[in-house]
Formats: sequence, C-alpha cells, structure tokens
Amino acid sequence: MAAARELAASLVDWSVDVIDPVLMRLCDAHAPGYPGVRYRIGCGRQTCYRHQPGGRGHTITYGVGMVADHLCGNHHQWTHTREIARHRFVDGNTSPPCALAHIAIHETAHALQSHRGGRRRGSVHNAAFYKAVGDLYDALGRDRLMDGTRQLERAFVQGRASAGVTGAEGKPDPRAPINPATKFCKGQQVCFATPQGQVITAHIDRVNKVTCTVTCMQSGQGYRVPHALLWP
Ligand SMILES: [Zn+2]
Repeated sequence: MAAARELAASLVDWSVDVIDPVLMRLCDAHAPGYPGVRYRIGCGRQTCYRHQPGGRGHTITYGVGMVADHLCGNHHQWTHTREIARHRFVDGNTSPPCALAHIAIHETAHALQSHRGGRRRGSVHNAAFYKAVGDLYDALGRDRLMDGTRQLERAFVQGRASAGVTGAEGKPDPRAPINPATKFCKGQQVCFATPQGQVITAHIDRVNKVTCTVTCMQSGQGYRVPHALLWP
C-alpha cells in the first residue's frame, strides 16, 4: 500500500509540475480564464476526471488500486494501456512507467476536451477527446515526455523494491493467463478498500484459491478478501 501510494504521489507530482501548465496554456488558447485541475490520489481503483460546476471544480483522481496494478504488472487490463497499443502513444510502449505517463495525459485530455465543449453524455472517448490527447502530446514535446517516463520509472523501481516485488513477476506475458494466487504470499503486507472506501492495511495469513485470509494491522480483525481487490 505504502509503495502504491508513493508511486501515485509521484504521478500526481509529475501531473502538477509538468502536465498542468501545458493544459493551462492549451485551455487559455481556446478560452481564457480556465481555473485549472486538482490532481489527487483516490483510495480505491477508480481513476477519472470530474467536473462539478459550483462544487470543488475540476478534479483528476488516480486510484491507488489502479497504480498498484502497475506495480504488480497487472496493468494490461486497463483501458489506457490498451489504448497505447492501439494508437501507438508513447511509441507504443506499454511498460508500467509509460502506461502511468499516458494515464496522466489521458485524464488531462478529458479536462481539455471538456473545456472545448467536446465531451458529451454517452460520447466520452470521441474524436474531440483524441484530438485533445494529440494536442497535449504535441504541446508537451518528446523531451519532457521522456523526462517524465524516466522520473516515473525511478519511482516505479523504488516502489517495487519497497513492495518486495521481484524482477521476474514484473514482466508477464500479457496474453498468458495469470494465476492471481501466485501474486501473493504468506506474511506479505497488502491493502484493500472496504465498500465504504476505507483503506485497510493487513498481512496475509493464508493464500486461498480466490481469496486471501488477512489480518488488519491496526485492529487485528480478520478478513477474507478476493485477490482482485488486494494490492501490495
Ligand atoms: Zn477516459
């Protein structure tokens, strides 16, 4: 959990420092006075752009569970990773640091698309969206993109080391069926979110076929949690 959260924090930092100024320039070129986006870490898996008029403004949330999927090489299931392969963004490189860089661009493109009036109910990933993605990549430029992926790569390597993920697990063949039980081991520290959104840190007592039996580190309470809902 700590590892995924630190990696998510690096993604937020890169977004705020590098992507947001690019977004602001593109938005101002369309219509001045854009208030900007707030980037935040979400406690679940949900990763999205939201605009609540009159509320807290524009927010982009990176779910810590989504980031954790990149740490354990499980990120090929996400739309943004498949989008890289389909549209050849970041040179078609679907490694976790490139996929994380692309998700920052993807979500920020929703903000630009929305500002330009190109986001409509039932038509989210439309031509206006892909135009916004292309414009963000162009305005960012190759050098800054490569700097960003290197920065995320360093955070990723550090995150994997502190989560105790070993090298071989990190490069699964995306076509190969993954046995989720092999991702976990007894004694490992993991996290999961309750249906109420509370994040629980626990250690694994037993790895079962589809669940892990875990004990919450704070309360000592036991849970059986499906593999898909656990992250390092
Ligand atoms: Zn999207």
